[in-house]
Amino acid sequence: MLRLIINGMPHRVAPGTLLIDALRLAGAPVPQVCHDARIAPSGGCRLCVVEIEGQQRPIASCTTIAEEGMQVRSHTATLQSFRKTNLELLAEHYPPDAVAARPDLPFHRLLNEFGVTAGGSVVTGTLFQDDTHPYIGVAMERCIRCDRCIRICDELQGQFVWEAIGRGSATYVAPGRGKTMLEGGCVSCGACVDTCPSGALFDKRSPAQPSSWTRSTCAYCGVGCQMEVGASAGRVVAVRPADSPVNRGHLCVKGRYAFEFNHADDRISTPMIRRDGAWEAKTWDVAFEHVATELLRIRTMHGADAIGVLGSARASNEENYLTQKFARVILGTNNVDCCARVCHTPSAKALKTMLGTGASTNSFDDIERARTILICGANPTENHPVVGARIKQAALHGAKLIVIDPRRTELAALADLHLAVRPGCNVPLINAIAAALIEENLVDQSFLAERVTGYESFVTFIQAYRPEQVAPECRVAAEDIRAAARLYSECRPSMCFHGLGTTEHLQGTEGVEALINLALLTGNLGRPGTGINPLRGQNNVQGAALMGCDPGSLTGAQSLKEAGPRFEAVWGAHLPKTHGLDLLQMMDEACSGRLKALWVIGYDIYLTLADAARSRAALANLDLLIIQDLFLNQTAHEFGTVFLPAASAFEKDGTFMNAERRVQRIRAAVAPPGEALPDWVIIQQLAGRLGHADGFEFAHPQAIWDEVRTVWPDVAGLTYDRLENEAPHWPCPNEQHPGTPVLHRTSFSAEKTAKLVPVPYIPTSESADADYPFLLTSGRRLYAFNAGTMTSRTPNSLLQPTDVLDMAPADALRFGLADGESVIVRSRYGAATLPLCVNDAVAPGELFVTFHCPELFVNNLTSSVRDRLVHTPEYKVTAVRVEKATRI
Ligand code: SF4
Repeated sequence: MLRLIINGMPHRVAPGTLLIDALRLAGAPVPQVCHDARIAPSGGCRLCVVEIEGQQRPIASCTTIAEEGMQVRSHTATLQSFRKTNLELLAEHYPPDAVAARPDLPFHRLLNEFGVTAGGSVVTGTLFQDDTHPYIGVAMERCIRCDRCIRICDELQGQFVWEAIGRGSATYVAPGRGKTMLEGGCVSCGACVDTCPSGALFDKRSPAQPSSWTRSTCAYCGVGCQMEVGASAGRVVAVRPADSPVNRGHLCVKGRYAFEFNHADDRISTPMIRRDGAWEAKTWDVAFEHVATELLRIRTMHGADAIGVLGSARASNEENYLTQKFARVILGTNNVDCCARVCHTPSAKALKTMLGTGASTNSFDDIERARTILICGANPTENHPVVGARIKQAALHGAKLIVIDPRRTELAALADLHLAVRPGCNVPLINAIAAALIEENLVDQSFLAERVTGYESFVTFIQAYRPEQVAPECRVAAEDIRAAARLYSECRPSMCFHGLGTTEHLQGTEGVEALINLALLTGNLGRPGTGINPLRGQNNVQGAALMGCDPGSLTGAQSLKEAGPRFEAVWGAHLPKTHGLDLLQMMDEACSGRLKALWVIGYDIYLTLADAARSRAALANLDLLIIQDLFLNQTAHEFGTVFLPAASAFEKDGTFMNAERRVQRIRAAVAPPGEALPDWVIIQQLAGRLGHADGFEFAHPQAIWDEVRTVWPDVAGLTYDRLENEAPHWPCPNEQHPGTPVLHRTSFSAEKTAKLVPVPYIPTSESADADYPFLLTSGRRLYAFNAGTMTSRTPNSLLQPTDVLDMAPADALRFGLADGESVIVRSRYGAATLPLCVNDAVAPGELFVTFHCPELFVNNLTSSVRDRLVHTPEYKVTAVRVEKATRI
C-alpha cells in the first residue's frame, strides 16, 4: 500500500489508484463533470484539479496516479475559486430552467453547490436535434462538451456513434454518420445517457427520480448483467446499469430499456380454465383443484409417465429446483425438461462427456486476457450484447479474432479471419483446423503428454479432414483454415465462444466435441484466457437445466443412478429410476397419444419449437395443457386448457445462473399484478393440493436455495448472505472457497486426463436442390428476444417491427425480388410469408430469418431433423425456395 498525506492527514491506497479515487476514499471527493470510471480519464473539465506539494501548478486528479509520499491539498480557497470560475464558463449558455427541473443531475448539483447561476444566453451555432429515437431524448442546448457520450460510446460499447463536429467554440456533438442516432449506428444501449452529467441526453420514457431502486439481474440473455430497477407507484419505470464484474456498468437495449412488458395491458393476472374453447377466469382455489384432480386422474388412468413437465429459463433456480422435485417426488416421473434442450444441451453433453463438467470452462473476465478469440456460430453483439461489446473492445485493442459463421455478422466484419462456413459444415471445418494443427506441428506437446489421451488414434482419424480436402464442401479456402489453426495455436491464450450456430444441428453435440478437440490439442484449457465457453441464450437456461429440469439427471447434473439414493434420503421419497422423456420425445409421445398432460412454465413451445406442424399435432392431442406464464402466449392461445398467472423477474426474489457459472440474486422491485404469484408459490400450493405439503414448505426462496446447497456440493458455499455482495463461480464447495473462474486447471473433474474424440462428419438430410435451392438459417436480432413475448410489448418493437428474410443482392437480382417486398418462403415442411431484406451479410444461396413474430410463424418452415445424441432441433439448416407474394 502507498502512504499519502491528504489535507494534512495520512491515508493508504493501493498502488495504481487514481488520485481522484484516493481523494474519494479519504472522504475528500473533488468535483468533476468529465470523469467516469468506465472510460479512460481525460482531464478535460479541470474541476478535479488539486495542489501537490512540490508541483508549481495544480494538476487534474483524474489523470494522476497516486505516488508514495504525495502530499495533496484538495479544497483550498484558490482551488475552489478556480472551480467556480470553470463552472461559470461551462454554465454561460446553460438553460436555467433545466437546472431547476433536474437538481439531481451531477452538473446541476455542482452549480447549486458552488452558487453558480446558469447564464441562459442564447446558443449560437449548430445544435444536433433528433426526436426519432423511442428511448433516448436529445436536448443539446444542455451539452457542456465534457465528451463523455463520445468516449463511452467508443470505449465501452465500441459503436463510435458520437463525434465532436466543427472547430473551436463552434464545435458541437452529433452522430458522425447519418441524420439521427439510429442512422449513425446507435444500438440503444443508453450508455451515453447514463454518463451524461447535464441532461443533454436523457431517457424519454423514465421519470427523473423513481421512488425506489432495487438491485437485480437482467431477465433477458445469459450474460447476467446486474442492474438497478427503478419503481414508482408499484410499476417498473426505469432501469440503470449496476457495477459488477459481469457487465462493468453497462447494459444493452433489452436490459436497459425493454421493461414495459411488465405492465402491458394484456398481462394475465387471474387463473383461467378453458371450457368449450373459451377462457373463464377462476379463483386460485378452483384452478388448483382442477389441476390436481386432472393430474391425479391422468396418472391413475395412464401412469405417471403420461405426464410431462417443462421448467423455465425465465424462472429462478429455486423455482426450477421445485419444478423437477415436483415431477419426480409427486408425479413420480423423470419426464421433466426445459428449453436447454433446444439450445445448449449439446454443449452440456459434450463438455461433461469430454471434460467432466457440462458448463463454460472460463469467465467473461478472460475476454481481456485472451490474445485470440474464436467465435463459432454465435453473434454476440446482437444476442449477448454486453459480452459482444467486450469482445469488440478486445479486438479493437489488439486481440486476434476468428469468426466461424455463414453470415457476415458485425464481429465477422471486424475479424482477422472470417470463415464463412456453409451451413451444416461446422464439423468438417473444425476437424480441418485440427488436421492443420497436427500437420503443421502446432499442437502443444507438453499439454498433450501430461493431460490428453487418444492422440495417436486421433491423428489417424483426422487425416481424412485435411484442409485442402474439405475446403470445397465447407466453402472456406484451405489457406484460411490453416491461418485459423496458426492463429489459434500460436497467438495464445486462445478463448473459444460458441453459440446456437454450433449446437442447433444434426451434429450439434459433435460440433462442440470438435471445438474441445482444438482446445485439447493446443493446451487452450485450464488457464485464464482460454477455454470452451457456450454463450447461453436465456437468462437462466443454464440454471434451469442444472437444477434438474433434465430427464436424465438430477440437480447439478448428478446421475439418476448414482446420486438418486442421496436425493431420496434428503427428499424422503422414492424416485423414478428410468430415464424420462425429453421435450422432443414428449412431443412425439403426445402425437402418438401416450403423453396426456403437459405443464409448461414460462416457455412458448409452440412458437419456438422447430417443425410447427408436428408441435400442432402434439399439443392438440393433449388432454391437459397447463400454461404458467405472464401472457397468453401462442401455446396457451392455441392449445392451453389451464392458465396459471405467474410473477415476472421484477416481482420476485431468487437467483439466476449466468453463462459463466455465476449465481446472482434477483430481487422483487414491485408486487405482481392482481392474483399472479411467483412460480415457486404456485408449485408449492399445488404440491399441497396433491397431499405433499411436506418437502415443499418453504417460507422464502432462500430456504429452497439452502436445500439446493445440501444436494449439490458444488454450490454449497454460495449462501444468500454471500450472494448479497458477490457472485462467485461454482464450483464453490464451502463458504470460505473463493469460487472457480477457471475449470480444469490441473485435472478434468475426476480424471487427470481428457480424451480426444474422433468426430466423423455425418451430413444432415437437409440439402438444397432444384426445388429448394436455398439453405435457410434462423436466429435472433438485437431488439427482439426469442418468442418476442417480452420485447414485442415494449418500444423495442418500433426498432424491429417484424421478422424479415435476409437475402444476398445477387440472389434478389436473380429471382427478380426487391428489398422490402413480401415473399413466400416454402420448405418441405411448411410456408411463411414475410418481408425481404436484401443485404450482403448472407452469402448467395443462403438466407437468414428470425422467429420472433407469431403472425409470421417462421417455425412452420423448420425441419424435424434433430441432434443425433440429445435431440436438439436443427434450426440452422432448412432447404427452402422463395416466391413473390402478392400481399402479406
Ligand atoms: Fe440483459 Fe444480456 Fe443485455 Fe446484459 S447483455 S443487459 S444480460 S440482455
